[in-house]
Amino acid sequence: MFIDKVEIYIKAGNGGNGCVAFHREKYVAEGGPSGGDGGNGGSVIFEIDEGENTLLPFRYKRKFIAKNGEDGKSEKFHGKTAEDLIIKVPQGTLIKDAESGKIIYDMGHDGRFVAAKGGRGGWGNTHFATPTRQIPRFAKGGTPGEEKTLVLELKMLADVGLVGFPNVGKSTLLSMVSAARPKIANYHFTTLSPMLGVVSVDTHNFVMADIPGLIEGASDGAGLGHEFLRHVDRCRLLLHVVDAASVEGRDPIEDIEKINEELYRYNPEMAARPQIIVANKCDVGLMDGTREKLEEYAREKEMEIVFISAATRAGVDELLHKTSKILLTLPEQTRYESEYVEEEVVEESRDFTAHFEGGMWIVEAPWIERLVSNVNFEDRESLSYFHKVLKKAKVFEKLEEMGVQDGDAVSIYGFDFDYVK
Ligand code: GDP
Ligand code: MG
Repeated sequence: MFIDKVEIYIKAGNGGNGCVAFHREKYVAEGGPSGGDGGNGGSVIFEIDEGENTLLPFRYKRKFIAKNGEDGKSEKFHGKTAEDLIIKVPQGTLIKDAESGKIIYDMGHDGRFVAAKGGRGGWGNTHFATPTRQIPRFAKGGTPGEEKTLVLELKMLADVGLVGFPNVGKSTLLSMVSAARPKIANYHFTTLSPMLGVVSVDTHNFVMADIPGLIEGASDGAGLGHEFLRHVDRCRLLLHVVDAASVEGRDPIEDIEKINEELYRYNPEMAARPQIIVANKCDVGLMDGTREKLEEYAREKEMEIVFISAATRAGVDELLHKTSKILLTLPEQTRYESEYVEEEVVEESRDFTAHFEGGMWIVEAPWIERLVSNVNFEDRESLSYFHKVLKKAKVFEKLEEMGVQDGDAVSIYGFDFDYVK
């Protein structure tokens, strides 16, 4: 079983709520506020797992929910911040937004990406004591953690991709030139998951991927192959392996054309990628004229060709040198840029209501409630920002129209003050 595309749901933890509490001392009827802050919620973070080549671990686990921050407690105890939830993915995994299909992040090189931020813990009531408000009976709630539905799609990071019909010797070649140990067997579709191997030539290293056999119609999704083609996406160079000895009775040139047709149907740009024809199984002995025909074909198509035997290693060093030399002339591997822009917060109207009740002026609006939860009332700048926003929304103007007097109490979601004209 091989999985290289999955949909998952992630949710970061909510921030814990701030606590409303008061000191209870023996001879003090009501002490000062003592509610601690809520802890932050855990974030959901992606990391690269170097040893993993498939998204198989996601087959049964599709929901990833980080823990919430703990609520604040009395005696000024802060709630615990929740641990981040780490999701390990193979290198080369694209993280996409499930709904739009847009790329959010390419786990190609940088090993860590915060995909959903944990909510912030709310302040306990200790923060809200002021000289005129010694008994704050409110605290702030934690903010919610982000949640997202994502598609993970694996596009492996290989410089060189081995393509070709099943059974032509791709896995044998990879095992010959690298430490990778793919399964080799004399039947079709042996390689069910792509394998990567590091190849060292002189002082140059490159990564070679064995892609499961392409079959005719693969690009239409008819069978195995199509889903694997995405792994060739990033390869800078393709080694097109053919059975030059026609061990299975097929014509090597027809094979090459068929595979290239598949590549073209999948993505024309991929068919245009540089290729070296690797004419394999030469130890078996080629039919008369095959060598010349293949050479002629390569010349026509302006492709390099190397005759080898993956089994005996004949010609393999020449192939590696050629591969390494060509790679040095090719552009870097594709890195996918983020196409995803977080939804812009639509500027909502600044409407509000004001009324006089219980001896104070009360101003209300959902946006003001949110604003209050973001203002640090102990901080002058933050406070002056709050004032500016209210002024711009004509809150004070409205209160004056309604007849507010100097020294009247005004209450805005727990932020209480005396009005000064
Ligand atoms: P793949 O499906 O393209 O990965 O092909 P494999 O590497 O699994 O090889 C398929 C069969 O061809 C196996 O039985 C190999 O032993 C055999 N084979 C691979 N390369 C050579 C070669 O150079 N010469 C000969 N005679 N057999 C080979
Ligand atoms: Mg194979």
